[in-house]
Amino acid sequence: MAILPIVTVPDPLLKAISSPVDMVDDDLRAFMGDMLDTMYNAPGIGLAAIQVGRPIRVLVMDLSDEQTSPDPKYYVNPVITWTSEDRAVYNEGCLSVPEQYADIERPAECKVTYLDYHGAEQKIHATGLLATCIQHEIDHLNGIVFIDYISTLKRGIAVRKVKKLVKEED
Ligand code: ZN
Repeated sequence: MAILPIVTVPDPLLKAISSPVDMVDDDLRAFMGDMLDTMYNAPGIGLAAIQVGRPIRVLVMDLSDEQTSPDPKYYVNPVITWTSEDRAVYNEGCLSVPEQYADIERPAECKVTYLDYHGAEQKIHATGLLATCIQHEIDHLNGIVFIDYISTLKRGIAVRKVKKLVKEED
């Protein structure tokens, strides 16, 4: 287990298209454990592999309310197979865009197929925060960060604030 450095905007790595994983093996499970540690440490509720510098189609999430009862989820090669016409707005944030938030509209519900921690194929019908979060994380696998949906002006301001923040932390 390890805490990995998180890539922040405007690092071009965040624009990379991640590649599918061939198989879920012990090496990948160890990496997903490190991703989870990194996410909890930040703290955050979702993390894509590209956010710690690896362009592979892997996500970890934990939407449980209490730190005392963690409910980690692992999504390998997730694919959105359906989205609802109904849309929902959430005030989103991202560990790669620290301390910046924006209202983002997305489909309110979606269906996703993926491989789980053991490499078994799973399907979910996501609603509410899960639907928003999984779409946000899958966007990362396609080189999209949530601020790509806001105006160029607001995006520029957010990126400048992050650069300043990261500089101060160094
Ligand atoms: Zn994010």
